[in-house]
Amino acid sequence: MPELPEVETIRRDLEKKIIGKKIIDIRVIQKNSIKNSPTYFTKTLKNNSIKSITRKGKLLILKIKENEKYLLIHLRMTGQILCCDTDIKIAKNTRVVFTFNDNSQLFFNDTRRFGYLQITTEKEKDIALKKMGIDILDKNFTFKKLKSLLKNRRRNLKSALLDQKIITGIGNIYADEICFKARLQPNRITGELNDKEVKKLYNSIIKIINLAIKNRGTSFSDYIDSNGKKGNFSKFLKVYQKEKETCQNCHKKSIKKIKVAGRATRYCENCQK
Ligand SMILES: [Zn+2]
Repeated sequence: MPELPEVETIRRDLEKKIIGKKIIDIRVIQKNSIKNSPTYFTKTLKNNSIKSITRKGKLLILKIKENEKYLLIHLRMTGQILCCDTDIKIAKNTRVVFTFNDNSQLFFNDTRRFGYLQITTEKEKDIALKKMGIDILDKNFTFKKLKSLLKNRRRNLKSALLDQKIITGIGNIYADEICFKARLQPNRITGELNDKEVKKLYNSIIKIINLAIKNRGTSFSDYIDSNGKKGNFSKFLKVYQKEKETCQNCHKKSIKKIKVAGRATRYCENCQK
């Protein structure tokens, strides 16, 4: 599943590729991939253009210039956005195709079909964003903020990191990598972390997420960027899908795979306390 670094990579690419271009055609191949009626969806976008592209967590927010409405895109499990300058073929998993006035195209592909596109008003968009937790790249996401979000909570660290209503943008890959970098066991109770540990956690979140963005995300199965290329962060992974391999930090124990918060979780029992 694409997490914050992958979606941010797509956002930055789209900013360069589609802002200001007039959308001359929209082809809805799979109507279940859009949350509006195909007629309304098409009518709202046709002959209009995208003014700006922002992101919160894993959600892309495209502002339509001419009518002040918004196009929200969530990739969920297997969604992909591909930008093409030439006429490429529609694939089996292509759900929506946009054509711009310079003949370039944008494909929304989604094998599992959990992803979606949705036109909203500004008010509807604001309500949706309010339900989400703080974004890691938000300037208000500080050590103090993280401390206040975690204190008094009787839940484990892994589930808190994955909870999109607390912090938005972290999924299974980065949650495990963050816990390893912070040297904290994923099943620690967040309300019991001391200031020093929360500080280590905060620094690890910032470092891991920014390094992953710099490397254009991580690819395991479906994630590709808007050029169709895989992310480069996989080579920096220390625990995710490294079970049975020797820990790269202590070189003593092998990485363990357990279940925390209902998700496969990898960690080193020697390094993470
Ligand atoms: Zn270790």
